[in-house]
Amino acid sequence: MEARRNSGARQKTGSDHVAPDCRGMNFYRADDAFRGLLDLYMEPALRAHLDPHLDRLGELAGGRLDELADAADKHPPVLHPRDRFGHDEDWIEYHPAYREMERIAFGEFGLHAMSHRAGVLGWPAPMPPIAKYGFQYLFVQAEFGLMCPVSVSDTSNFVILRYGSDELKRKLVPRLLSQDPAEMWKGTQFMTEKSGGSDVGALESEARQEHGEWRLYGEKWFCSHTDADLALILARPQGAAAGTRGLGLFAMPRRLEDGSRNRYRIVRLKDKLGTRSMASGEIRLESAFAWQVGELRAGFRQMLDQVNLSRLSHGVRAAAMMRRCLNEALCVARNRIAFGRALIEMPLMRRQLLKLMVPAEQALSMYAWTADVMDRASRADEGAAHLLRILTPLFKFRACRDNLHVATGAMEVRGGNGYIEDWVNPRLVRDAQIGVLWEGTSNINALDAIGRAAAKMGVHEALGAALHARLAESSRLPQKFRMRLGELVDRAVAFASRASGVEGERLARMAAGALYNAATAVLMAWEAAHLDNGRRLLLSRMVVDYRLSAQDPLAPQNEAWEERAAALLLGEGAVTLDQAAAPVNR
Ligand SMILES: Cc1cc2nc3c(=O)[nH]c(=O)nc-3n(C[C@H](O)[C@H](O)[C@H](O)COP(=O)(O)OP(=O)(O)OC[C@H]3O[C@@H](n4cnc5c(N)ncnc54)[C@H](O)[C@@H]3O)c2cc1C
Repeated sequence: MEARRNSGARQKTGSDHVAPDCRGMNFYRADDAFRGLLDLYMEPALRAHLDPHLDRLGELAGGRLDELADAADKHPPVLHPRDRFGHDEDWIEYHPAYREMERIAFGEFGLHAMSHRAGVLGWPAPMPPIAKYGFQYLFVQAEFGLMCPVSVSDTSNFVILRYGSDELKRKLVPRLLSQDPAEMWKGTQFMTEKSGGSDVGALESEARQEHGEWRLYGEKWFCSHTDADLALILARPQGAAAGTRGLGLFAMPRRLEDGSRNRYRIVRLKDKLGTRSMASGEIRLESAFAWQVGELRAGFRQMLDQVNLSRLSHGVRAAAMMRRCLNEALCVARNRIAFGRALIEMPLMRRQLLKLMVPAEQALSMYAWTADVMDRASRADEGAAHLLRILTPLFKFRACRDNLHVATGAMEVRGGNGYIEDWVNPRLVRDAQIGVLWEGTSNINALDAIGRAAAKMGVHEALGAALHARLAESSRLPQKFRMRLGELVDRAVAFASRASGVEGERLARMAAGALYNAATAVLMAWEAAHLDNGRRLLLSRMVVDYRLSAQDPLAPQNEAWEERAAALLLGEGAVTLDQAAAPVNR
């Protein structure tokens, strides 16, 4: 495959006016913040074991994987409704670049299996979420589209392992957790129909008992990873109650035991704005065979487990894409000359770069903490399970929204070239958009966090308590700053209480945003204290000043502080914890 021109690895010549990109960079080695958080959250033996694997994926993401992602994006999949003999054996043709990325993700790194069984990457136990999502974070800095099949395979495996009968597990698990392409079954999940995406209870497809087995009828309107080997699918058993309570969960194989095609058809593929490397289609269920998964009437609740795992993955994907955007923007700003100086020397550009950096770092902190909470929840820690209930929708909502601004901002830093498909920016802008739709739109996630987790279960109070506990563990931080953070947490929790009342639905997004910002400010301060990292405390302070405090748009007052912070955050000098928390000059 042709290597992309203007590689960042190539030296600029005197006549070379076009700024380079990050091609050739190792995204693991370049990411001090990520490595610092792994040191903090990951058990040391696993950390040491995974270091070379993360290093390899970081190198691939800045090199070969990035080239493959570019090619796969430009050669989207094609649906063939019949085989060459005229049988209705639909199949999807992928570019070889996509197949090679699959080999890396599923075959080499086992991203779909690593947290479900021992042995992946030579580790003698299933890996915790901090590891799995850490690999996702590096992978997505190059390729976003394929992460959908990887993630839905991972989450399908979770559901089958948790809810499948022993017989179903015996049949499916060896295939689902295999890394051998000849044997492996990849998974997906189909819920959305024309009648309902957010309103899942409105879906119309039906499950019927025929000759002692389940058969599915109806249509699914959005089916990503359309040709997966196994689809988890919601349908209403004949005669079951209306709404989500009547829905059953089924596992529908693409092929039957005798190798013949199951009775559903891919009607067409969607012509999508982004995620173009990956196939999303519409399917018609024509008496498709399926296995029942778990309790028949608990289908929706079981599917929500999968949705929540996917939401965490979406937050991580947003963190990854923002990191890529930031890296690209810094690369341009350091190399592009305008008006006789590098862009990075210009005060207005420095301000814009901070606007890309702060949300990228917030999302990184949220990934590490949420993954840690998920790990504790999986080990029967009820408090952690309770907390997780609000963290996943908060993370999904805010990080995916932030990603939109960051992607557009990074495109703008590259100037006109940022709009041209030779460069990664257009793909980042296009791919970012789906984050606010998949696994619930922004409204649906904010309502889930505030209208359900906070209003019905009081989880925002638990979140407040957990953040205060983090502050109590951060005694190295200057007292005044800790107190300021504590006040902000209390105010965000009080706001969430107000917004969780019947009258407050209107405010759900504001309240969810406030909780996310308060949580990430505390997390970054806690990390700063434990890593003795003044830079991270500055970032926490940026969140406090710019995302949690009122600014008068007609009289901004902290220019001197802002300039100093920009210099430090852009790597021009070291900063201690005390300096980072010094009183603001206003
Ligand atoms: C490329 C792509 C791939 C997809 N792949 C899959 C897949 O593999 N499997 C799958 O199951 N689904 C998939 N989806 C579907 C996706 O999850 C839905 O599109 C999404 O959940 C929104 O549902 P909808 O399109 O029906 O919009 P609607 O639910 O009609 O929403 C329209 C608008 O109304 C708002 N809204 C809805 N209810 C409320 C409320 N109570 N309060 C305030 N606002 C509200 C929403 O926020 C949104 O802005 C995919 C979608 C796309 C675009």
